[in-house]
Amino acid sequence: MGTKYRAFYERSIKDPDGFWAEQAKLVDWAKPFAKVLDYSRPPFARWFVGGETNLCHNAVDRHLAGRGAQKALVYLSTEVNEERSFTFAELHAEVQRVAAMMLSLGVRKGDRVIVYMPMIPEACFTILACARIGAIHSVVFGGFAANSLAARIDDARPKLMVTADGGMRAGKSILYKHLVDESLRLAKHPPEKVVIFDRGLDKNMARTAGRDLDYAELRARHMDAQVPVTWLEANEPSYILYTSGTTGKPKGVQRDVGGYAVALAASMKHIYCGEPGETMFTTSDIGWVVGHSYIVYGPLIAGMTTIMYEGVPIRPDPGIWWKIVQDHKASVMFSAPTAIRVLKKSDVSYMRKHDLASLKHLFLAGEPLDEPTHRWIMDALGRPVYDHYWQTETGWPMLTAVPGIEKTEIKFGSPSFPAFGYDLRLLREADAAEAGVDEKAVVAVVPPLPPGCLSTVWGDDERFVDTYFSSFRDKLVYSSFDWGIRDKDGYYFILGRTDDVINTAGHRLGTREIEEAVSMHPAIAECAVVGVSDQVKGQMPLAFAVVKDPARISTPDGRAALEKEVMKTVDDAIGAIARPRRIHFVTLLPKTRSGKTLRRSIQALAEGRDPGDLTTIEDPGALEQIKTALGGGQ
Ligand code: AMP
Repeated sequence: MGTKYRAFYERSIKDPDGFWAEQAKLVDWAKPFAKVLDYSRPPFARWFVGGETNLCHNAVDRHLAGRGAQKALVYLSTEVNEERSFTFAELHAEVQRVAAMMLSLGVRKGDRVIVYMPMIPEACFTILACARIGAIHSVVFGGFAANSLAARIDDARPKLMVTADGGMRAGKSILYKHLVDESLRLAKHPPEKVVIFDRGLDKNMARTAGRDLDYAELRARHMDAQVPVTWLEANEPSYILYTSGTTGKPKGVQRDVGGYAVALAASMKHIYCGEPGETMFTTSDIGWVVGHSYIVYGPLIAGMTTIMYEGVPIRPDPGIWWKIVQDHKASVMFSAPTAIRVLKKSDVSYMRKHDLASLKHLFLAGEPLDEPTHRWIMDALGRPVYDHYWQTETGWPMLTAVPGIEKTEIKFGSPSFPAFGYDLRLLREADAAEAGVDEKAVVAVVPPLPPGCLSTVWGDDERFVDTYFSSFRDKLVYSSFDWGIRDKDGYYFILGRTDDVINTAGHRLGTREIEEAVSMHPAIAECAVVGVSDQVKGQMPLAFAVVKDPARISTPDGRAALEKEVMKTVDDAIGAIARPRRIHFVTLLPKTRSGKTLRRSIQALAEGRDPGDLTTIEDPGALEQIKTALGGGQ
């Protein structure tokens, strides 16, 4: 572990006030903060108390003077074959138009706006426009189905929703507006108005008079809009982003304004080494936290050009990302291991035929990065590839190398060390004592959480404390719900979740959520969903369902038909991202005598491991059924 890194890190822990006051200079403040940290109500941390700032100002306005003519946003779509780019001055104008249209629709500071949009520039304008006027955006990933969208609407109670007619993925269209209509029928607290950006992808799009409004029409009315930024106290909410947990109900991660701006600016400088005027290419989606932090806010705050890519990594060919790096001289890239595992299947010549001289390094996050994939991509690129680890809740990396401070050696499969500001520990599950070298324990953070992390769960302070700070009796620490180890050199390795959460292709899904979706099918009595390892996606859900009427599955055709129907039920309830790899039908599930489903034993069997201690099982026959079902293939 490097000495410069160590000194930087230790200062952030021992002198957080001094450290963060210094980092806070990386952003503009309309009013200086009176106090760096107020931690009078643990575990709620309030950073930069009394300071006033604005995320949109820092991402856009403050660059106008020196970089007005520099590209701020480049949109590339291999789905609709389109390319558009916007300078900071143009971005400023577009954001003000959207801000003006929102104001004209009655959206005010503190109101929620649901953004359900594909990867198009208008999504970025909408997000920044919310930030500009102090409205709280809640972006919902376009892959989520009507039911999931409705649940988020009811929790956030938005004043407005902004969407598009549709999106495209791998050449297939996804009709967003159609899903929105369905979700608004299901929601108890639908917004009064819906603004639709019409891409011409859904010729039969229905519009509801009085509710549905056209983005282009509204924009035309506000072409010359000048909307000053609304200065916000650093701790006022900037956005809500829902994430899955162990319960069926997703949690609204609430983020602040000042702490988030500072954390992002600091991460751009010290971790990603993104310089003003350079280009960042993050291959995520605006619906995920990575998209919020490192497609929209982070690079723009740093004065960089950000790339929004609508498309998959292998179309028109597996060289497309590298062509983008070449054409736009990207210096920093951010992606996920799943995508690299997909690319690994094709020849490195797709990468090598492009000039990647501009690229300094690639960062990967979202799921465990296996050593072979890490080695492959680092060899292929001939550049440092950094694994780094974080969560929707934290908003920016928790474990990472910090090459802006020191270029420490990379260990394959390791996200290196704790990021500045995180008093990160590995704690034994049983007694919260610190684990020794190479000992598997829970990744935890001693609060206060640093700037940028969630301030609370939207509308539910109690859930914030109960969920994240109650894992250990007598010790108030934030649990990441991940297992980790630290080796003798101080490098960390993440070993997977401690709870029943699955990570599929870098996306977190609660098994409970999927179980509830499977059980929505009228033929299903109950079910168990487990995550099983998958070569490309890391993990995939696998379901075992008990049918109400065994006659339905008495023939192979009957089973196949029901499996298809249940998969469709999951698609409709959550979205295709949650679709189980297989649904096996059984007549009972393995449970303990107290009625708890033995998910870990099922998972072990599905992965070909020993099912472990089965002394508490109610009926061993249930496990036999799981084995038989698996014998038929996963
Ligand atoms: P999400 O909030 O959806 O981004 O998911 C966060 C979860 O993804 C973490 O709690 C980890 O389980 C997993 N994760 C993220 N980054 C990494 C990484 N670099 N290595 C291993 N697991 C990771």
